Amino acid sequence: MTIAIRSSEPTKEATLRFLAKTAKKLLIDGQWVDAASGATFTTCDPATGKVLAELSSADAADVDVAVSAARKAFESDAWRGMTPSARGKLLWRIADLIEANVDELAELETLDQGKSLKTGRFGEIPASAEQFRYYAGFATKILGTTIPTSIGYQPAGKKIFVYTTREPIGVVAAITPWNSPMLMAAMKLAPALAAGCTIVLKPAEETSLTTLRLGELMMEAGLPAGVVNILTGFGETVGAALTAHPGVDKVAFTGSTEVGKMIVGAARGNLKKLTLELGGKSPAIVMPDADFALAIPGIARGIFANGGQVCVAGSRVYAHHSVYARLVEGLAAEAAKLKLGHGLDPETDLGPLVNRKQADRVASYVSEGRGNGAQVVTGGGQMGDLQTFYQPTVVIDVRQDMRMMREEIFGPVVAVTPFHDVEEALSFANDSPYGLAASLWTSDLSSAHRISTQIRSGTVWINCHSYFSPELPKGGHKESGWGYENGAQGLENYLETKTVCALV
Ligand code: ADP
Repeated sequence: MTIAIRSSEPTKEATLRFLAKTAKKLLIDGQWVDAASGATFTTCDPATGKVLAELSSADAADVDVAVSAARKAFESDAWRGMTPSARGKLLWRIADLIEANVDELAELETLDQGKSLKTGRFGEIPASAEQFRYYAGFATKILGTTIPTSIGYQPAGKKIFVYTTREPIGVVAAITPWNSPMLMAAMKLAPALAAGCTIVLKPAEETSLTTLRLGELMMEAGLPAGVVNILTGFGETVGAALTAHPGVDKVAFTGSTEVGKMIVGAARGNLKKLTLELGGKSPAIVMPDADFALAIPGIARGIFANGGQVCVAGSRVYAHHSVYARLVEGLAAEAAKLKLGHGLDPETDLGPLVNRKQADRVASYVSEGRGNGAQVVTGGGQMGDLQTFYQPTVVIDVRQDMRMMREEIFGPVVAVTPFHDVEEALSFANDSPYGLAASLWTSDLSSAHRISTQIRSGTVWINCHSYFSPELPKGGHKESGWGYENGAQGLENYLETKTVCALV
């Protein structure tokens, strides 16, 4: 099956200028430098296969230099001596620069990742700016406490005075995935900078362009040299070296559960602190009294947005048997309406998946499911000359034990299954190693709040799905991760407490 590719060229001068620059370099200690080995790799437009840029391929030698630069910056007066207010203003300036360059950043994200321009232009890029704004305010509100103590063995005439301080944890290795590159980078950089940490950031090898452009904007905003370093390259080289490096104090990772578990092993040497945002297999439970005007488009958006390449994608829908047929029909109609095309085409709802490998992977889940008795109601096809597109797909008759019901597909594929009562819906929903997010669709809000307590996941949405904002903590229960990003808890990831106990 083919797809007509129209509008595959960027229209913004700034995008063309950024792409036209020669090989993209690494950002280390405030300078753009080649990888020590001189090695490079290319990044391509997944819709057309066109090479967009040549990137530097860092390895362990570059990790050493970048970690030293981050350590030096962490201890420097330029950064440690910066007032909280100045740090907050710096974050705010980064947000302003992201907004001033939103059109370019959105085009770069679409070209590199495939997502529709509207997703980047009106969603993820402005949301990235908001991350910096939200955490800018925290820089001046990092507070310790004084603690009255009941210790009674101090010498006569002496008192004990205790207070705590909150200190930045140190050098952070931040590793991001390819699904929403700019936003994932912002979610780590903003709280880490607000806390006063320094960072070595490794974007996903498939989608590094907006992170590099963000690096330029951060330098333009006035970030001191070495505070943020960016190493492009591969997971098994740069990623592995960073997570094992003794000079790194903390790893903030978003990606697959499989790699998350490898990072737990790699971080053991110096017991790095870890935040892990991992995979999901998020259920949507549709009760008989659901408002279908909300549920159908909401569930469709929850699974098909960004081609299903979203960690919280609602890939399992459990519908009460009395509304099951209606839901399948509505969801299939919604899926069939979505337009596939190049992300830069203003009419496109869904672009290609990030690459052929990912599209093949999605296709393999669907064909295996078909082989085991699942029925495809709509979609089910890999498309395009490069076979990088995948149709929005609704599947029924998927058993709980099938791989497509248990594993994260990371594509626009949803399985819909009927249930008979709430207990059965909950047992299906909780029958997963993952516990990232869930949604519940009902008009009975009091039962919604009751049911939400019984769902094992980090987020429960009621009558909506995939609603995000920097204020809302986001994290996984079970094998979906450790810790929470966003909100006040997101800042905690980058701070440690010191108790000062004085005999006075
Ligand atoms: P996804 O399948 O969503 O890309 P991955 O977990 O494979 O998720 O990748 C997420 C990020 O982790 C990417 O930046 C990738 O390069 C990096 N990565 C992959 N393998 C490793 C590893 N062994 N150690 C550290 N980082 C890794």
